[in-house]
Amino acid sequence: MGDAPVDEKPAGDEKSAGGSTAESATESNKAETHEFQAEVSKLLDLMINSLYKEKDIFLRELIANASDACDKLRYAAITEPDLMAGDSDLKVSLALDKEARTLTIADNGIGMNHDDLVQNLGTIARSGTEAFLKQIKGEEGDDPSLIGQFGVGFYSSFMVATRVEVFTRRAGEDTGWRWESKGRGKFSITQDDSATRGARIVLHLRKSEAEFAEEARIRHIVGTYSDHIALPIELAGETLNEGSALWTRSASDISEEQHKEFYHHVSHLPGEPWLTVHMRAEGRIEYTGLVYVPDMRPFDLFDPARKHSVRLYVKRVFISDDCEGLMPGYLRFMRGIVDSNDLPLNISRETLQHNPILAKISSGLVKRILSELEKKAKNDSEGYDLFWRNFGAVLKEGIYEASDQGEKLMKLARFHSLNSEDKWISLADYVANMAEGQEAIYYLSGDAQSGLEKSPQLEGFKSRGIDVLFMTDPVDQFWLPTAADFDDKPFRSITQGSADLDKFEAAKADDDSAAEAEKASDSDMDKLIAMVKLTLGEEVKDVRVSSRLTESPVCLVADEGDVDMHFERLLRQHQQPVMGHKRVLEINPGHSLTTALATLVGKEGASEALEDASHLLLDQARILEGESLPDPASFSRRLASLLTKTLTA
Ligand code: ADP
Ligand code: MG
Repeated sequence: MGDAPVDEKPAGDEKSAGGSTAESATESNKAETHEFQAEVSKLLDLMINSLYKEKDIFLRELIANASDACDKLRYAAITEPDLMAGDSDLKVSLALDKEARTLTIADNGIGMNHDDLVQNLGTIARSGTEAFLKQIKGEEGDDPSLIGQFGVGFYSSFMVATRVEVFTRRAGEDTGWRWESKGRGKFSITQDDSATRGARIVLHLRKSEAEFAEEARIRHIVGTYSDHIALPIELAGETLNEGSALWTRSASDISEEQHKEFYHHVSHLPGEPWLTVHMRAEGRIEYTGLVYVPDMRPFDLFDPARKHSVRLYVKRVFISDDCEGLMPGYLRFMRGIVDSNDLPLNISRETLQHNPILAKISSGLVKRILSELEKKAKNDSEGYDLFWRNFGAVLKEGIYEASDQGEKLMKLARFHSLNSEDKWISLADYVANMAEGQEAIYYLSGDAQSGLEKSPQLEGFKSRGIDVLFMTDPVDQFWLPTAADFDDKPFRSITQGSADLDKFEAAKADDDSAAEAEKASDSDMDKLIAMVKLTLGEEVKDVRVSSRLTESPVCLVADEGDVDMHFERLLRQHQQPVMGHKRVLEINPGHSLTTALATLVGKEGASEALEDASHLLLDQARILEGESLPDPASFSRRLASLLTKTLTA
């Protein structure tokens, strides 16, 4: 067995090749016909009819597959060296035949057996491809540019080929196979023992794509897309690429273009890296990390079944692309590789996670990534906003998951706030602008900023010019209760506990409007509160005068120590068991409605109409809070009765 063979016999033209499989096959080598999975057929139709101009990406995909296959073999050979026997110079060989109009891409990697072929080249196994299909669904026609962005893998060969053959043999197995398809609905598999270890892919090019059988063209494509590939890529006895792993080269020798291609290779994402971190640790533990922060959210960012996506290499040998313990969950958007000389090559994937060296590597990497983020935040705050929008919600998970990094992560966090609705601010910015005498960092939680901006609880803060942070990510409900202080200032939800705003002077002249409403005497207001409390009974925890309201008559708040109201709603939405805390109803003593009610109670004492009004106050507060009414029928009856009285008075 020599090198990966590329001794392509000139392929016949379409007619004689088509349908010849069954005829020429001997009894034992019968062609077996399979149908593509429906999604694949859809994808192939798109490829065949594609108007996408940069068709040359198909070669990038096939070379990437060849490189992956060699990585897999190298890993398998650690425990089973025989798999590589006789042919241990792993490489990719390209062969061109202008006359026959074929392009052949061969590797001597792991190869595929019969079942691998059915599974890998008959279904869609890859999430990126699935995401691609989802994206184009529902759009008018196909948006060709998406093909290049998503890099749709093996199937992209049908953009340039009318027929594709795969000759392959899985390492260590006795039988070889030939897979063939014209990309329309079906493919066939035939036993073919002439296939040697690895995979040899023969593309029968369309007439219009004959350029891909030309040497200059292929050289150019390999130079553009595949220079980072760590295997030699050969054409006519010459190696076209550098053939060394990109991360082993010195940082100054790697161009932006090369980073971009490598990033595509390891991330399966379109776009380009938002941040590149290339580090080399020397000393007691040696490792190299080349990791990227993407410029967009990966499709599976919030998918619990997602894989860990930084690949681990040991002494340049690919070990795993799903290595738990290498990147913490809150950095799961990172893409790239880590290569260490200090981990044992024969380490099993299962024990990796608990390896103390891996833990050290991980903490070194994390430290470096966070400090690079800090730099970026400082030097390019606008660029940092893009990062924060993409990954802020994920990064914040670290505040409670990784307490040792909590402070650093809090510094990296950005928020919108009452006084900064459009511009992101940091906690340090917030603290620097705190009012005199303000001791806590105030925040308000909810689903969306647009809803929060209208919250009645904000009114008192607005009128006093005190800023309130908006917490709109579900994860906020997890880190906030456990967060240590920031800069010695505790975090305080403004819908929880008493607002205690009286010590701050109102900045705006809201008092004027309050003065307009005839003020009820304090004792009448006390009577009103007592009556409402009596009427509502078990429905509320307490009723009290509010300092946080200026425009709305009432609002609901959680009592000190109770669960935040937004958090409780969130739990309900996720069908979690909830304690169902009773809330405190706060009444704005300066509002014309409550003033009128207080005066009435003072004059006439309790009445049925006032009891109805008490219930309506509570329901109104519930509606303002975005909660549903427990008894809409009674609400409607009371409202109708009150309106009738007013209108017929
Ligand atoms: P992806 O590479 O993202 O998995 P592809 O469509 O490019 O998606 O390839 C599908 C699968 O086919 C691969 O995961 C791999 O299992 C198999 N495959 C493709 N090319 C080769 C090859 N040259 N050698 C071995 N297996 C291959
Ligand atoms: Mg691939």
